[in-house]
Amino acid sequence: MTEIIDGNAVAADIRADLQDAISTLKDAGVTPGLATVLMSDDPASETYVSMKQRDCEEVGIDGIHVEIDPEAPAEELYETIDDLNADPDVHGILVQMPVPDHVDTRRVLRSIAPEKDADGFHPENVGRLVAGDARFKPCTPHGVQKLLESTGVDTEGKDVVVVGRSDIVGKPLANLLIQKADGGNATVTVCHSRTKDLAAKTNQADIVVAAVGVPELVTGEMLSDGVTVIDVGVNRVDADTEKGYELVGDVEFESAKEKAGAITPVPGGVGPMTRAMLLYNTVKAAGEQSDVDVEL
Ligand code: NDP
Repeated sequence: MTEIIDGNAVAADIRADLQDAISTLKDAGVTPGLATVLMSDDPASETYVSMKQRDCEEVGIDGIHVEIDPEAPAEELYETIDDLNADPDVHGILVQMPVPDHVDTRRVLRSIAPEKDADGFHPENVGRLVAGDARFKPCTPHGVQKLLESTGVDTEGKDVVVVGRSDIVGKPLANLLIQKADGGNATVTVCHSRTKDLAAKTNQADIVVAAVGVPELVTGEMLSDGVTVIDVGVNRVDADTEKGYELVGDVEFESAKEKAGAITPVPGGVGPMTRAMLLYNTVKAAGEQSDVDVEL
């Protein structure tokens, strides 16, 4: 029987575990605060930010939301970040990507104070992760690691193929999986659009993680029997539904399920984990900034 990995259940466990840390902080007079900044009128970005704010409210984190007109000068965003960096009630800052073309994305990432960088994308935090001294693990890769752990899949010595090399998923995940640490010690192959014969790589893997953004790219025939499949992809495809679309992953679920020992669904797999790990990073940041020892 193929195990369908329930990301909603694992994320709920993580949120429940965070409650203790949040109580400890509140007993010490500290309410963790997460600021989200949206400079976009893209409906998907608006939805992501509002879900993150709702998550905060549910677990007792103060959510602060700033919206900036996408036509406004870039300086307005940089100044907002400076203000949030200086605000002692804000422990984590997340700028929803993508930002408009006239804004320098790299400057945005560099502007967020590293100790408030809840996404873990500041160059200092990227460097620390690569060096095996992570302050904040980026939310999606960390969520994938937690999903594997919860499924009882030991990564040590396993052949893992990560399809996708983005700065937010593929690269940091590959880095986490090769660390000499629990949840790491894997042999990792990173594939991308220039990879020759992707199927030859995925067919050798004990674990395949797809983070590509191409609907149903990875099919059952590209997988070996018993493989663990983690599907990060979230793609809207036209469908005869009320909304006119449905969400599918980067893996063709039905054919992959025939081969997999365990597989994540879309939705309900990695997505809820990304959200839970953002709360985790915010609570960690609050503990470190207020010198309160929180067990995470
Ligand atoms: P990016 O577009 O930044 O990166 C996609 C990667 O896939 C690139 O490295 C690209 O290669 C590679 N790629 C594209 N086409 C192919 C192909 N045919 N064969 C092999 N590799 C290919 O995407 P993200 O990493 O930001 O996101 C990936 C997916 O994950 C998206 O569907 C996104 O919506 C989803 N996502 C989901 C999250 C969640 O919480 N569930 C969080 C973040 C993302 P190259 O570098 O050569 O261009």
